[in-house]
Amino acid sequence: MSFSYPGGRAKALVIGIDGLRWDRIADAPAPRLRALMRDGLFAPSLLVPGHGAETVSGPGWSTVASGVWPAKHGVLDNSFTGRRYDEHPDFLTLLKRANPALSTFAALNWPPLTDEGTFGPEIDQLFRGDGEEHGYYTEDERMTKASAAVLRDEDPDAGFVYLSCIDAAGHGWGAGSKEYLAAVAAADTWIGELLDAVAARRTYRLERWLILLTTDHGHTNAGGHGGYTDAEARTFVIAHGPEVAPGRRADVRLVDVAPTVLRHLGVAVPDRLDGRAIV
Ligand SMILES: [Zn+2]
Repeated sequence: MSFSYPGGRAKALVIGIDGLRWDRIADAPAPRLRALMRDGLFAPSLLVPGHGAETVSGPGWSTVASGVWPAKHGVLDNSFTGRRYDEHPDFLTLLKRANPALSTFAALNWPPLTDEGTFGPEIDQLFRGDGEEHGYYTEDERMTKASAAVLRDEDPDAGFVYLSCIDAAGHGWGAGSKEYLAAVAAADTWIGELLDAVAARRTYRLERWLILLTTDHGHTNAGGHGGYTDAEARTFVIAHGPEVAPGRRADVRLVDVAPTVLRHLGVAVPDRLDGRAIV
């Protein structure tokens, strides 16, 4: 039996999948991603060049974390020069400041996301991996196991888990390659482990879980990104949860992730955010 009470406790998990071209999911063995796209809200989008940022991870994840576009958060490339996280902190930090009773965690294996403060030190549990040093597959798996344990056995209210192996495969072989599809399949397995951990919670039926998945940029078929061809600028948001109307929408963008999590957890969305909640 699987149901959730309308008045259950709100919780949220955001999975950030670096460099995932959503149009390649259909060609990969990726049953969990496909089920989320089918049963939830699927919103494809394109990054636009007006903000002066490259289509790379620094700006992309800063946008997802903060709910504002690069013109405000100031991260235009992977140097992180000009970052304004003091004015535009990540959504986990905002949750914690608004309601210190909320428990937050993040698992990040691209070191700048921790070291530059894209996700800040006020988050209760920060798992810092290093895919550059230890390999992205190894670190994705380690971060997944750590996050699944928190999701299943502890009582987090909101978390962000970052997966990097798809972007690494894109840089190595291109988004058109079989290696890229193998990385999509691997990430799909880890996404499944995270979702299964949520569903295995002792109190799951008393909770209302919102699941969000997104990416920071696309990849060319030959591999690489930074510019604004459709393949490089291609992004998406997938949302799944009791308050999310399933279907396909074109008007949901990366900036909407942060305010959606805030609203779901009952925290007022600051006016300065560029996004708005979809729940
Ligand atoms: Zn990236």
